[in-house]
Amino acid sequence: MADNERKITPISDLGEFKLIEHLTNKNKIINESTEKAIGDDAAVLDYKNKKVVVTTDMLAEGIHFDLTYVPMKHLGYKSIIVNLSDLAAMNAVPEQVTVSLAISSKFSVEALEELYEGIYMACEKYGVDLIGGDTTASLTGLIISVTALGSATEKELVYRNGAKKNDIICVTGDLGGSYMGLHLLEREKNVFKDNPKVQPKLEGYDYILSRILKPEARTDMKKVFIDLGVQPTSMMDISDGLSSEVLHICKQSGVGAKIYEDRIPMDMQTRAMAEELNINPIVAALNGGEDYELLFTLPLADHDKIRNHPDITVIGHITDASEGTFMQLVGGNEVELTAQGWNPLKNKEE
Ligand code: ADP
Ligand code: MG
Repeated sequence: MADNERKITPISDLGEFKLIEHLTNKNKIINESTEKAIGDDAAVLDYKNKKVVVTTDMLAEGIHFDLTYVPMKHLGYKSIIVNLSDLAAMNAVPEQVTVSLAISSKFSVEALEELYEGIYMACEKYGVDLIGGDTTASLTGLIISVTALGSATEKELVYRNGAKKNDIICVTGDLGGSYMGLHLLEREKNVFKDNPKVQPKLEGYDYILSRILKPEARTDMKKVFIDLGVQPTSMMDISDGLSSEVLHICKQSGVGAKIYEDRIPMDMQTRAMAEELNINPIVAALNGGEDYELLFTLPLADHDKIRNHPDITVIGHITDASEGTFMQLVGGNEVELTAQGWNPLKNKEE
């Protein structure tokens, strides 16, 4: 069947109960902690002697995603990932998710099947069980709310408030890619609007596109920390941009920070796209967000244990609260970090 002949079944053909059954009948349960999943009035979990970690995130069409360039499958995948990233930031192991949807009549059964394909793909990859949710109608647009549950022992849990003076500040992976991927998509969307016959120019930018369309959660870091023999003193995921996350950790830990512009890890494609669009790539890393990497602090004594790890970069250190939160630029000047990135008009010397 050609693409333009694809079957479109209105949701009203199935109704709520049949739709839920249709979307969830292939659901597989893998975790021991899941006693009862979809099908009853509520799910039942057994976490034995572990702590239960719970997080929830809501994504609204037109606010958090744009369906003109985000395929439903990617949206389903990402809606799970953003929650698993929050569990990773607590140093917890993800175990279950619930998925709640408000759907308008413009969505077909097939569109929701695609959404669930992405949801199941993420569940499988990260070893989590889909244990329930809710389904309702919306007047316009799609709303997806995911709740994720995970486990950790009390000792393993990492909060935002444990950073201490002289701790080193580290990040996983690289930053700013998602933001530059979004800019690329926006540019091509505008080109398409003006002339639908023009093919989008996306070649050579596969990495930054995957960063925005198919992000991953750093749930792998829990094992890395164990293997390296370190326990972060504070941690959070980078969803709003490095700058605002550093400020969160400093505020909650009652400390200051100094980070270095030239140490912030960025991919070649991020830099290339930034150059093409005349954007300072450091802005993408500081303010961009949606990278879903982890920002964490470690005692200075642990520096040697992590210094050769390819996925960890030391970007600075924790200072006394009275010293504020600053970034040292390549030229040596210091600029204060703000929630929107840094404020170039406010120098430390002044
Ligand atoms: P109730 O009327 O008790 O809210 P529902 O008919 O809404 O029950 O849901 C029936 C079952 O299907 C429950 O186990 C619920 O968790 C699950 N469920 C409902 N909507 C979804 C969804 N969108 N995704 C996954 N599971 C769902
Ligand atoms: Mg319900």
